[in-house]
Amino acid sequence: MESIVFTDADYSNIRCDEKGVDRDWSDELLKTIRARIKSHYIEQQGSVCPYCDRHQGTENHRVWDIDHVVPRSTHPAFTFEPRNLVASCPDCNVAKGDASVLVNSKRKTYPAKAEAFNIIHPHFDAYDDHIAHSGHVYVGKTVKGKKTIYQCDLLRFAQKYIDWSTPLADDRFETEVEAIVRGEAGADSLIDGLRDELG
Ligand SMILES: [Zn+2]
Repeated sequence: MESIVFTDADYSNIRCDEKGVDRDWSDELLKTIRARIKSHYIEQQGSVCPYCDRHQGTENHRVWDIDHVVPRSTHPAFTFEPRNLVASCPDCNVAKGDASVLVNSKRKTYPAKAEAFNIIHPHFDAYDDHIAHSGHVYVGKTVKGKKTIYQCDLLRFAQKYIDWSTPLADDRFETEVEAIVRGEAGADSLIDGLRDELG
């Protein structure tokens, strides 16, 4: 995926004084830049959310969020870092929230490698290396994949079809997913093709 490239004019708009302090992300003066960021990443991602891997059949900005991979609440210095920006579906963005995704949360410079992140990084990772999914069920192939499923609440899709008594946005989810894959959840239609994908 190609990162967005900001021009000098963009940067002089983003920085509000000579000391290089950035404007607030939500500043009205940055509205056009935010819209460009969103359009750029929707196009680069082929209208696919990089966390749930689902295609959204519209480029309408109202149903896309700009996600800061490393949250701007914890790392404001990365707010306008092009590699920290992606377009995501609102549900994944909200579920991900302010979760810490850096292996070393004290980093001052933006990492250039996938290993520095503990969830799938849309700029550095290949989704299929970490998560298998078919229809509504997501299975982590790696620790990073599992963490992404947990952090982005990707079982919310299966939850609509399976009679789980309580939300599974916690660490019980792996056991439940294993039961589904073993065919013990009475939801075989949910996993058509998934066993093949997992080998
Ligand atoms: Zn999503």
